Amino acid sequence: MNSLHLKSFTRCKRKAWLDFKGKKSFEVWSPHKAIDKINQFQIFSEFCNGEIYSGLKACENGYQGVIGLKIKGNLFQNINAEILPQLLLKTTGKSKWGQYKYLPAVYKLGHKTTKEHLFDLAFSSMLLEPFQETKIDKGLVISTFYKKVKVEEIYLNKKLRKKVLNVLLNLNECLEGSIPEITQDRKKCTICSWQKFCDKEAKENGYLTDIDGIGYKTASLLKENGITNTQTLASYSEKQLEEKLSKFKDQRYEKASIFVKQAQAYISGKPYFISNKNTEDLLEKICSGFYIFDIESNPDDKHDFLYGFLKINKLFTKKEDLIYKPFLNLKNNKGESYRKIVEILFSQKEWPVLHYGETEKIAIINIAKNLNFSIEEIDSLASRFIDLHTLIRKSWILPLKNYSLKTVSNWLGFEWTQKNVSGSKALYWWIQYQITENEIFLKKIILYNKDDCMATLQIAEYLIKNQLKKN
Ligand code: SF4
Repeated sequence: MNSLHLKSFTRCKRKAWLDFKGKKSFEVWSPHKAIDKINQFQIFSEFCNGEIYSGLKACENGYQGVIGLKIKGNLFQNINAEILPQLLLKTTGKSKWGQYKYLPAVYKLGHKTTKEHLFDLAFSSMLLEPFQETKIDKGLVISTFYKKVKVEEIYLNKKLRKKVLNVLLNLNECLEGSIPEITQDRKKCTICSWQKFCDKEAKENGYLTDIDGIGYKTASLLKENGITNTQTLASYSEKQLEEKLSKFKDQRYEKASIFVKQAQAYISGKPYFISNKNTEDLLEKICSGFYIFDIESNPDDKHDFLYGFLKINKLFTKKEDLIYKPFLNLKNNKGESYRKIVEILFSQKEWPVLHYGETEKIAIINIAKNLNFSIEEIDSLASRFIDLHTLIRKSWILPLKNYSLKTVSNWLGFEWTQKNVSGSKALYWWIQYQITENEIFLKKIILYNKDDCMATLQIAEYLIKNQLKKN
């Protein structure tokens, strides 16, 4: 077992097992992992003033930062372990190499220091101590906040070490056993490289957490009431379920009928129409033209690097005739980019702006505030925004696991020009562009954003077509 297994194990036991024994062909490349590695290297490099080298020789030469070193050792009599410290940082002391020693350091994304960081540092120190023949009393957690490097010292006391030893024993037992169950908290799966593999199994076994809106807690309550899978849930009438659950004074049960319908749709593959109350005036609003708007962002840097507009003069126009305008914001030059965005929005003053999810509207409101718009002007601008994600959820129950832009438009038959793309992949390309300045990455991002706009349009057309049918 190694440090990566320990990291996975603290998130999901099954992930640790799959990383160790799973068929690699079932694993999907994860942009999150790649982004994490790039960020990690950049921050470490900055922290060590560029004096960062890899391997054992770097330790022997006493360089400031050392990466890429694998250290093997024995944890207990018969358990072989290996650490892959993210960074070893030179400090004062005495080791087998001379008048210095190394401390383990880990990179942290976000603000919160978690078990994952603490365990990694403690595990690293356990094998690093005999390796460099010296004691280590602390490790470091390195992160950035508003582009400034932040360092937190973690004391590797006895209690933490004992805890980690116990976790390592459990990990060892897990890796030797059979594949663990899918995690109950499926939110963890969204950025996992084994997601496709686990999703397939979850669907085959009728996992309740496959149903939109049912999380770990609701699934447990349903199970306690004898509803153990999606098939059983779908076989309930709304009344039955409400009665069964009414003894619990919990607002979750107001959703009983939605859960039943969602399960029925999921199993049958057929959408369920709720109401066209919310889409009634949609056609009227967009019939004389509208924009579709989509943003690509780097949330860690609070930087929207691309604003994409699709101009639609008339609904159901041939896709080839639509005009797509991307606005790159390469240097996060807010003033200049903001002016361009406002210019395009006000070139068609009355046009509604369709988007999917709340991000786009929030971004525009912030832009308007930044440009000192009056409250009335901001309200009037904001009122032009129509969130199709909200509309589709209020109008339809779809036979899907979630209502993300990708899931819904894929179901409607939309295909992205580039394969296996996602918002995180676009972010990965953006980071690649920043490092290499190779414009090919910008082209990929723009094409991806254009497809996102087209996918949003397909959802708008679905809503309109079906609303016309239902009238
Ligand atoms: S997809 Fe979910 S259940 Fe499967 S390994 Fe990843 S986190 Fe665990």
